[in-house]
Amino acid sequence: MKITEHIEKAKGRSLFSFEILPPLKGQNIQSIYDGIDPLMEFKPPFIDVTYHREEYVFNEKENGLLEKRIVRKRPGTVGICAAIQSKYGVDAVPHILCGGFSKEDTENFLIDLDFLGIQNVVALRGDAIKSETYFTPEPKGNKFAKDLVEQIMEMNRGNYQDEVIEKGHNTNFCVGVAGYPEKHMEAPSLDKDICRLKEKIEAGAEYVVTQMFFDNSKYFEFVDKCRESGISVPIIPGLKPLATKRQLSIIPHRFHVDMPEDLISEVEKCKDNKEVRQVGIEWGIKQSKELVKAGVPVLHYYSMGKSTNIQKIAKAVF
Ligand code: FAD
Repeated sequence: MKITEHIEKAKGRSLFSFEILPPLKGQNIQSIYDGIDPLMEFKPPFIDVTYHREEYVFNEKENGLLEKRIVRKRPGTVGICAAIQSKYGVDAVPHILCGGFSKEDTENFLIDLDFLGIQNVVALRGDAIKSETYFTPEPKGNKFAKDLVEQIMEMNRGNYQDEVIEKGHNTNFCVGVAGYPEKHMEAPSLDKDICRLKEKIEAGAEYVVTQMFFDNSKYFEFVDKCRESGISVPIIPGLKPLATKRQLSIIPHRFHVDMPEDLISEVEKCKDNKEVRQVGIEWGIKQSKELVKAGVPVLHYYSMGKSTNIQKIAKAVF
């Protein structure tokens, strides 16, 4: 079922969902099931699976020269989605990127998803790889998430890259896109970023999932601004419970979001990460309850492979 249909069917009740990462190469699917099993009691109608593009690693050879190798540390997005749909009967939502994909690669990726009965995708640009300062699209690839949304919509209309195919099978993808309550790091202003978000919706995206935020007022202000600019699709809040002291600096650096002073001082008082996890759970419960009260369509948790804290939050909220 499409994400938008799940939301309609809930008739105003906030749903529970979460995002997982494929395990590091070399692990088996059980590590994924171990993360999902404790959360199934909250009846997620869908589970997102992130996509991780290639990285360059440099190995020093005996002669001192560096050898460049391309590695994908977390492959398996499509396989995990198929496994989730078959084991749990829950819609799996693969993330799909512009980065690293030509339009033809994208088309072939989408054909696999369609054959597997996967109807939902989140369309993203992706970040620059570690050796680049700025994002560089693949030759003959999509430059922005909006271009990727357009390509998916063309497939939904039966139009393929290969011009030999005059009228192909109409896929039926429901597309979600990313939104940034605290602005995407490359955008010159929040207003401009929201204009870009609107372009993704006009291209055919049917819902938005937000970057994590720790201060609900940032989400509420963002939603108000989106509505003023004419964006009317569901805006799903993304939540990440804090679990370690180090995340106080890692998360702002990696995701370009602020931490509220109250949360910072609570975490700083903690003697160890066990206490930090408890603070993260309590903060997550407070955030979640307020969002449910405000009638958000879904609470979407970034599990990053660890589900115990999300289970505790969900127990208190759902
Ligand atoms: P876009 O919407 O293309 O925007 C990127 C930047 O370009 C923005 O600053 C925007 O304002 C600007 N822009 C857009 N259109 C134009 C234009 N026409 N001209 C000039 N500027 C423009 N990354 C992964 O690698 N794998 C994942 O699975 C993944 N999942 C994610 C899930 C969510 C919910 C979120 C919020 C992010 C996720 N990311 C993931 C990270 C994401 O790939 C990065 O944040 C990336 O830098 C931007 O992606 P986007 O789709 O928002 O890009």
